Amino acid sequence: GVKELCALVTGGNKGIGLETCRKLAATGITVILTARNEINGTEAVEKLKLSGLSDVVFHQLDISDQASISAVAKFVETNFGKLDILVNNAAAPGIVIAKPDELRSFKDGAAFGEVADKYADLLEGILVQDYKLAEDCLRTNYYGVKALIAELLPLLQLSSSARIVNVTSNYGELHFIPNEEVKEELGNVEHLTEEKIDGIVKWFLKDFKDNKLKANGWPITVSAYKISKAAIAAYTRFLAKTYPHMIINCVHPGYVQTDITSKTGPLTPEEGARAPTMVALLPDDGPSGLYFYEMQPSAF
Ligand code: NDP
Repeated sequence: GVKELCALVTGGNKGIGLETCRKLAATGITVILTARNEINGTEAVEKLKLSGLSDVVFHQLDISDQASISAVAKFVETNFGKLDILVNNAAAPGIVIAKPDELRSFKDGAAFGEVADKYADLLEGILVQDYKLAEDCLRTNYYGVKALIAELLPLLQLSSSARIVNVTSNYGELHFIPNEEVKEELGNVEHLTEEKIDGIVKWFLKDFKDNKLKANGWPITVSAYKISKAAIAAYTRFLAKTYPHMIINCVHPGYVQTDITSKTGPLTPEEGARAPTMVALLPDDGPSGLYFYEMQPSAF
């Protein structure tokens, strides 16, 4: 029954992660709420406990730190002997929103929309990115997620109904990448390999460093975030293909009022947690290898 299931959520201290923990715990699943900051994570667990959810435990986890990843895996193994649900929610934005008020009033919200790259010049100074932020973004959202999955796979394989949920973003959709070669490689599920995705990420970071984003057809606003989410979405498909007995999907939670968006957007964190929770609780017969735009399967 549901009582014996356990779920691990990354970035559980606030935003969509915290609300996903709340929803999963409310179903009777034991939730391992993780956060890189021990104090923030412990406080979040206390909040959930005060609201009557007792089956929530805290463990520290910084997904960009291999020692921290190993420690959390050890904790899960010792205390639960397996893992049923992994929600990769934590992410780094790769940008600084230098002027949140200007972002809010920018051309009817276009700063975060489809046409943001068209207004890249006007967005300068509002959405700020640099190589250090880009590197941190890929280290967390791509390499960190992959490293955590690799470490937890043996424990997920001991579950009779393993699920991996990668919280991606509509910003990871392939139409945001003008470079046709990259788009084709990331979108070709038959031929996807981990090496190919790694190669694209390395190529992106090199072009970022060499100031060749525009020249080589990469997104020019929120660049690293878009590539990190496109890369992990492709990796989601690759994993689902490789582990057909697991339910492995990625999901865009919607545009949600959290710190990553400077509290802009139409959805509350509670509403933003609905889709990731739904994907975490998909039935045993799937689907797997899909991208959900909120509650609906959608094109990568
Ligand atoms: P928040 O900024 O509220 O939360 C981000 C979380 O990620 C925080 O808990 C943060 O921890 C954590 N985090 C960042 N880096 C690391 C790390 N190295 N190790 C562990 N945790 C880390 O944003 P959201 O709740 O909005 O974001 C949740 C997910 O939803 C992300 O994957 C995001 O990309 C995705 N998303 C959000 C959208 C939105 O509109 N809000 C839209 C599309 C996707 P800390 O508090 O310590 O910084």
